[in-house]
Amino acid sequence: MEISIGEIVKCTNGQLIKGNTEEEIRRISTDSRDIKENDMFIALIGENFDGHKFLKPAVNKGAKTLLVSEYENHIEGVTIIKVEDTLKAMQQIAKYYISKFDILKVAVTGSTGKTTTKDMIYNVLSKKYKVLKNKGNFNNHIGLPKTVFELDSTYEACILEMGMSGFDEIDLLANIVRPHIGVITNVGLSHIERLGSQENICRAKMEIKNYFNENNTLILNGDDKFLCEEKGEKYNVVKVGLNPKSQLKGEIKKDLHKDGIIFNVTYEDKDYEFRLNVAGIHNVYNALNGIMVGIIGNVPMDKIKEAISEFESGKMRLNIKENGEILIIDDTYNASPDSMEAGINVLKNIGKNRKIAILGDMLEMGEYAKNAHYNIGHRVSEENIDILIAVGNDALHYKTGAMGNGMDSNRTFFFKTNQEVIKFLKDFVKEDDTFLIKGSRGMKMEELVKYLQERR
Ligand code: ATP
Ligand code: MG
Repeated sequence: MEISIGEIVKCTNGQLIKGNTEEEIRRISTDSRDIKENDMFIALIGENFDGHKFLKPAVNKGAKTLLVSEYENHIEGVTIIKVEDTLKAMQQIAKYYISKFDILKVAVTGSTGKTTTKDMIYNVLSKKYKVLKNKGNFNNHIGLPKTVFELDSTYEACILEMGMSGFDEIDLLANIVRPHIGVITNVGLSHIERLGSQENICRAKMEIKNYFNENNTLILNGDDKFLCEEKGEKYNVVKVGLNPKSQLKGEIKKDLHKDGIIFNVTYEDKDYEFRLNVAGIHNVYNALNGIMVGIIGNVPMDKIKEAISEFESGKMRLNIKENGEILIIDDTYNASPDSMEAGINVLKNIGKNRKIAILGDMLEMGEYAKNAHYNIGHRVSEENIDILIAVGNDALHYKTGAMGNGMDSNRTFFFKTNQEVIKFLKDFVKEDDTFLIKGSRGMKMEELVKYLQERR
């Protein structure tokens, strides 16, 4: 890192108990097990842990500076900075630290597709810049500051995913980052239990533009009913989507299903042809965001095309796997109504013999749970999926939804646990079957992928 003790004391309004303001911090860590020589250790207080209990282990591993909110004078030979709240201080340091770099800053939020979109934007911007992105899903009030601490003067751009489950969370992250470009992928139903309505979910995501000025641009999904009416005040709005009103307009030319999609893009009266090598129309939306960020970032169009065609799916996100003649669509990372729809659309097009959807519960849906599961069951039946295997608790409503739309009881099955599904699959699987496996993270649907992959 490129930051001194003096700068940290100043931006956190902290008290330097011991140490020298001129000294530089090499790296920041909040995990005493991960400390390296000369690091600063921030003692965070979590629900189940208190970093202050690990000050000595951190120092033993080489920490040279401790940022604490409580301190008794028992550790020698290290710099001590005392603040009121170590988490808040960590966020203040991130805000100050990122402001030191004159780089292009892009932030992405939305109900589904944030990580995928972030990775596409990363691919595109990397054709011109050295880009920092959050690793995996480091997208919250702790993960995002940690990502920011990885910046150094060799970087020219950053793309940061911002997650939320309630109001003011995106505001906090946007205040730290002060992005030049914001992207909202869509407004779905995730976290509706806490926010109460999709209008509220939309408002919470719109916090991404809270620090925008006339030089900043918000990229919105023009096909999303909650976003398509948004107009920028004192900042620019660009809509991307498949409808003709979008400023960056996509048009599907050829769906190659498991081999990808060929689509056209029209922007400022010019047409361009793109190819994605991953399945799913939803990925065209993610790509449109990547293309628009590339255009704003002055990445040449042929390089943007290259970046989009090189994109590969993230782990557990619509990964297509084979075991002999069986095809397995591993979409086990997570599930929400929108991504369930996206997964079903992929299954319906690539199934070989029997198309089988093994769907686990979508969690955290509150009072919407029953309807949301029922509607997905209905979709399964509408899309002529051959077999539905529902697993969990609310998953029972998948089955009633499918049967409510006329799917036979001998084609719909319900089990409580993955183990019961595995037992059932033992005699059920046939050559040429195609499986979509998807459910919320807590459902551990990867257990079923593992079974199908290792099955002989
Ligand atoms: P999280 O909230 O867990 O961080 P995320 O918003 O980062 O999720 P991804 O990890 O990119 O989303 O994708 C989650 C699931 O949604 C995957 O199953 C993926 O295939 C699907 N998905 C990706 N993009 C879209 C999209 N634009 N619309 C609908 N579903 C999508
Ligand atoms: Mg994510």
